[in-house]
Amino acid sequence: MIDLHLHSTCSDGRSSPAVLVDEAAAAGIRIMAITDHDTVAGAHDVQTAAQAAGLRCIVGIEITAVYESRDVHMLGYFVDPGDRDLLHFLETQRADRVARVHAICSRLEAIGLPIDVDRVLAASAGTGKAVGRPAIARAMVEAGHVPDIAAAFDRFLADGQAAFVPRGGPSPADVVDRIGRAGGVASIAHPGKLRKDEIIAPLVRSGMTAIEAYHPDHSEDDTRRYLDMAHELGALVTGGSDYHGTGSGRVNSLGKVTLPADRFDALVARAGHAAQR
Ligand code: AMP
Ligand code: FE
Ligand code: FE
Ligand code: ZN
Repeated sequence: MIDLHLHSTCSDGRSSPAVLVDEAAAAGIRIMAITDHDTVAGAHDVQTAAQAAGLRCIVGIEITAVYESRDVHMLGYFVDPGDRDLLHFLETQRADRVARVHAICSRLEAIGLPIDVDRVLAASAGTGKAVGRPAIARAMVEAGHVPDIAAAFDRFLADGQAAFVPRGGPSPADVVDRIGRAGGVASIAHPGKLRKDEIIAPLVRSGMTAIEAYHPDHSEDDTRRYLDMAHELGALVTGGSDYHGTGSGRVNSLGKVTLPADRFDALVARAGHAAQR
């Protein structure tokens, strides 16, 4: 099985890169990609562990872009984790995340739900790890403000709720460009969640390689639509479980959604990484 969408403790996943490899192996995955939000900090550890376990692991990333005030998640595969421009850009993204955590925590305090912001930030400070709303949600559960992570999002942290803070950020096209300059290929993540299909064709024309058609939040109709769209646009297809670990407040999806091998081979060929197989 092939799973090209996995999160670790380097962003909002609950499994360390090494544990993620163990879990993937146990689920029967033989090719995996780590795709943490706005960081490649897990690249070294995950590849070391994958090599020891006999799995193939691709260095990936999931970068948050913004279109019409909505988050657009852009996946990048085969990026060089040592690319200086990419690393500098990701540092900016993570600094914006820290500022946003402060802003969200201020709103929570204003509505009578204080949490310890320094503790929320401590785990990622100075480590290259990316913080995000899931860390706030966990702190809210620990403080007794909400029963679980899902309630934290539904009532307070999701777009439109009381403690939601809109983010600024690069356009999806800018992110496609940055991924390409770091040696990678770009794919729009879970477009069925975004429901802004009009951005896909222009992105493909400006160099986006693929569309994530296979994702646990996609209905069968969604998957079919994005497979058809990819075919019409001459784009490739990616997919994966978007696993965030157990206790992440999301269903345990590891191994539930995988990418057909021929789709993966096409991605490798397009990325020019055939020699690495
Ligand atoms: P952020 O990166 O700060 O924008 O937070 C977005 C992340 O929160 C996503 O990548 C998901 O992993 C997580 N998330 C979003 N909605 C929920 C939810 N309802 N329950 C649990 N996790 C969620
Ligand atoms: Fe996430
Ligand atoms: Fe995502
Ligand atoms: Zn993801």
